[in-house]
Amino acid sequence: MNDNYALLLELQDKDLRIFNLKKQVISVPTEKERVRHELQISEDQLETVKSSVMDLESKIKQIEMDISDENEQKIKFQQQSVEVRKNDEYKALMNEIERCDKNIAAAEDKQISMWEELEKIKEIFAATEKEFEAGHARIEAAIKDLDVREKNCQAQVEKITSERDALATGVNAELLTHYNRLIARSKLPDGFSKAVVSIRNTNCGGCFLTMTPQVVNRVKKDELINCENCGVFLYYET
Ligand SMILES: [Zn+2]
Repeated sequence: MNDNYALLLELQDKDLRIFNLKKQVISVPTEKERVRHELQISEDQLETVKSSVMDLESKIKQIEMDISDENEQKIKFQQQSVEVRKNDEYKALMNEIERCDKNIAAAEDKQISMWEELEKIKEIFAATEKEFEAGHARIEAAIKDLDVREKNCQAQVEKITSERDALATGVNAELLTHYNRLIARSKLPDGFSKAVVSIRNTNCGGCFLTMTPQVVNRVKKDELINCENCGVFLYYET
C-alpha cells in the first residue's frame, strides 16, 4: 500500500477513536439527567406515600378530638339531667346522650379502621423508603461512574490527539489539508465522516458512485485518487 495511504488510514483510525471518545463525553450529561430523573421519580413516590401517612394521622387526630368533644357534651347533658324537673326535658336530654353515644361509637369504629389502614400505609412507606435509599445509593454510584468515564475519555482524547498530531507531521501537507477538510464533515454524535475509504466492487465506499474500470485500475496500482463525487481518498482492499 502507498505510504501516504497507510499514514492517512492510521490517522483516520485515531480520528475515529477520538470521535467515539468525544461521543461518550457528550453523552454523559444526558445519561446523568436520565439517572437523576429516575431518582426523582422514586423520591416523588416516597413523598406521595409520606403525605398519605400524614393525611391519615391528621384525620385520626381529628376523630380523637371529635370523640372528646362528644364526651364533654355527654357529661354536660348528664349533669343537666340531674337538675331538670320536667319529664320531657329529661327525655330530651336522654335523647341527646344517646345521640352522643352513637356518635362516639361510630367515631371509634372509624378510628379502628383508620388505625389498620395507617399500619398498612406505614409498611408501604417503610418499603418505599428502603427502595428509595437503595436507589439513591445506586444512582450516586452511577453518577460517580459517569464522572470517572468522562474524565477517562477526556484523558484518552488528549492522549490520542497528541499521537494523531505527531503522526500528521509525517503526512504531505497538501494531502493533510484535504484529509482534514474531509474529516471535518463529521458531526457528533453519530456522523463520523471517513476521509479514506476502500472501493467496494467498483463503487466508492463513501458515496457508492460506480467507478470506471480505469479508475479502479489506477486505485489498484496505489495511485492517489479521490472520488470525483464525494472527494474521499480511495484505496483498494485486497
Ligand atoms: Zn465517493
